[in-house]
Amino acid sequence: MGSGGALEVSGLVKRYGSRTAVDGLDLSVPQGTVTAVLGPNGAGKTTTVETCEGYRRPDAGTVRVLGLDPVSQAALLRPRIGVMLQSGGVYPGARAEEMLRHMAALHAQPLDVDSLSEALGLDSCGRTPYRRLSGGQQQRLALAMAMVGRPELVFLDEPSAGLDPQGRRATWDLVRELRGDGVTVVLTTHHMDEAEELADDVVIIDGGRVVAQGSPERLCRGGAENSLRFTGRPGLDLASLLKALPDNTAAAELVPGGYRVTGTVDPQMLATVTSWCAQNGVMPDRISVERRTLEDVFLELTGKELRS
Ligand code: ATP
Repeated sequence: MGSGGALEVSGLVKRYGSRTAVDGLDLSVPQGTVTAVLGPNGAGKTTTVETCEGYRRPDAGTVRVLGLDPVSQAALLRPRIGVMLQSGGVYPGARAEEMLRHMAALHAQPLDVDSLSEALGLDSCGRTPYRRLSGGQQQRLALAMAMVGRPELVFLDEPSAGLDPQGRRATWDLVRELRGDGVTVVLTTHHMDEAEELADDVVIIDGGRVVAQGSPERLCRGGAENSLRFTGRPGLDLASLLKALPDNTAAAELVPGGYRVTGTVDPQMLATVTSWCAQNGVMPDRISVERRTLEDVFLELTGKELRS
């Protein structure tokens, strides 16, 4: 097992009766980074996160959070981590601000409750009982409660689910601030843009195992190459274009007058293609670059859409 990571999971297995929800999962999260855990429904994300939070006991394997065992050393660990509570665990009559102040009081050096409420747009509903908060307000309160204790590591389960665009941006700003303060963030999400926007590292889980891990850029670069498309008159001699491009490049006329060049699409390739067009008296009506997105990578790896 690696050392020094804020979170180290090794060979984790978790079963519910005869169903294996997590099937030998390894995960290492460096301190001070943001890791996004992605996976189709039922992949085992929540189970993994709940096991790291100490709410579930592994059937096999080990979990270390800040070097501690989240089950047997829970009392030591709890004050140092932040967890987004599920609405099931909340007393429905409690008021939003009371809940947040209560949580703050449990920690030695909490954030300022008023500023946090304002940042998350909770200041207007501080006196509202939990059960009367809108879904988005409940979500933002859960987020506030996860971070108010100034945790060293925070687990965020779909932090922007159900939020409007403004709420999502506020949430993203907070995650960036946490990272800026050196906090380790582990979040689950169904949104690729959220992962691309926030994560240093993306972990894709399928069938209870990690099927890919890396920075969004690295995951998108691996495997299939990017492509450049342009339109011109039909029947252009692509052999002369290929001579000017690196060996790993391919070119094809997909439909009459519609061309695709596949390979390492960089400024040099674009320049070569456009100067070849100029030499051949071709004025492309359109040139476009197609990059693999995390969404494409996810689909290739799991065969599933991210949101089903
Ligand atoms: P989602 O994206 O839908 O939230 P997930 O990746 O978080 O999914 P988990 O909730 O960890 O996946 O579930 C993994 C598997 O374990 C699923 O097949 C699920 O039906 C099953 N499962 C989860 N919790 C329980 C439970 N308490 N009892 C029985 N089976 C469960």
